[in-house]
Amino acid sequence: MTPAKGNAAPALARPKTRRRRQRWLAFEGLSREELEVQHHLAYVDLLLAKLEEDGVLDLVEAELARRRRIAAGLERGCQNCGCSETRACLGGCIWVDQNVCSRCAK
Ligand SMILES: [Zn+2]
Ligand SMILES: [Zn+2]
Repeated sequence: MTPAKGNAAPALARPKTRRRRQRWLAFEGLSREELEVQHHLAYVDLLLAKLEEDGVLDLVEAELARRRRIAAGLERGCQNCGCSETRACLGGCIWVDQNVCSRCAK
């Protein structure tokens, strides 16, 4: 049977430890679906926090900014591999054409 809309959270036994009780109160009254969403959001937050801690988000931001500069014609970029003035190929490269680097010129 499908529970009626707005049904209260499943009746869980009140947890014994203080921490678990606080967590339980934070989610009290949420439906199964809402709990599910909370669970996913918490997981995404955790991943983002980890990425931020590792400096990965800064790298992603910098890379996106670089691509935007190339797309806007503000930075010269290789049409084949995407290297540019601020990010050369691994091991280095030079321009052999307006938009072709030495690694891609064969
Ligand atoms: Zn290239
Ligand atoms: Zn290159």
